[in-house]
Parts: sequence; structure tokens; C-alpha cells
Amino acid sequence: MADGEDTATLAAGPQPGVKYPLSVLYCGNCSMPIEYCEYYPEYEKCKHWLEKNLPAEFEKMVKLGEGDDGADGGGNDDDKKRQKRGGKGMMKAKKKDDTPKQVTISRAPRGKKKSVTVVTGLSTFDIDLKVAAKCFGTKFACGSSVTGDDEIVIQGDVKDDLFDFIPEKWPEIDEDFIEDLGDLKR
Ligand SMILES: [Zn+2]
Repeated sequence: MADGEDTATLAAGPQPGVKYPLSVLYCGNCSMPIEYCEYYPEYEKCKHWLEKNLPAEFEKMVKLGEGDDGADGGGNDDDKKRQKRGGKGMMKAKKKDDTPKQVTISRAPRGKKKSVTVVTGLSTFDIDLKVAAKCFGTKFACGSSVTGDDEIVIQGDVKDDLFDFIPEKWPEIDEDFIEDLGDLKR
């Protein structure tokens, strides 16, 4: 009859699929239930204790631990999760998307009757400015040189021609990426 009594007493508690009696395993090192051991500063010592006294539980824990180090682990370590998120954020920030891709072409007066054409932004398309300057010089048979961080000055008014030539020479630069700044005053 002892069995019957037990069932009655525990009527509110037992749930299907759960083995009874419930046993909480306490760690001999930190005296906490063993699932809290990992939050204990001396977790390494706890592990040693578990390895000696509760080898089966120890194995489970080690497996969980390995999972956490992997790509998608058990995931009950909040700190590690946060670090991963931060890492991904850093990766995005590193991407070179802060400078919009944009080439500008403008005309600037040079002397009383002549003009020069100023091209900027080619380096936003990873184009070697020296190579580009040489191309322009050859194409338009005039002086062309790198004059700044991302600026080429072509001796002569070739602005209109550049709208055809640049997309032809570098197909990745669609005409839409080229902005006509008009006439600049220098
Ligand atoms: Zn412990």
C-alpha cells in the first residue's frame, strides 16, 4: 500500500514522462546543483570533482562545453553569444561601403580661353588613378595627371567625351554613377 500513498501525496507534482523520484545532484566542490557549476569561479575544480564522483554527468557537461565552442553550440553562455554578435558587427563595419561609389566630372577654366576637365571618384571603383590618367591622356591626346587623393585633371575640355569613354573603358562604372558637376570656378 505504500506505493498508493506516495501517488496520492504527489498528485499535484508528477508529470508524464518525468522519472521520479527527482534527484538533484549537488556538486561536492561548490555545493551547488551541478548545473550551476559552470557559473562557479572554480568550475575547473568542479569538473575534477564530477569526473571522479559523477562520471556520467561529467561527460554530459564536457559535451555541452564543446558545443559552446563550436559554431552553433548549446548556447546557454550569454557572454559568448554577445561576443559572437559583436564580432559579426565588426565584420560589417569593416566593409568598405562608407564611401559611396560616385564619379564626378567637371570643367574648370584654365587661363582665359582654355579649360581642364576634373575627374574624381575613380578610386571608389578601385581604379588605379595613374593608369586612368594615362588612359585619358592617350585617348584625348592631351596632358592628364593625378592631382589629388582621388582626382585627375585632364588638360582640355573632354567632359562630354568622358561620359562615353569611362563606361566603355570600365564597364563597372555605369553612366548613372557619373555625375556632371558642370563648370567649376577655380
Ligand atoms: Zn561545482
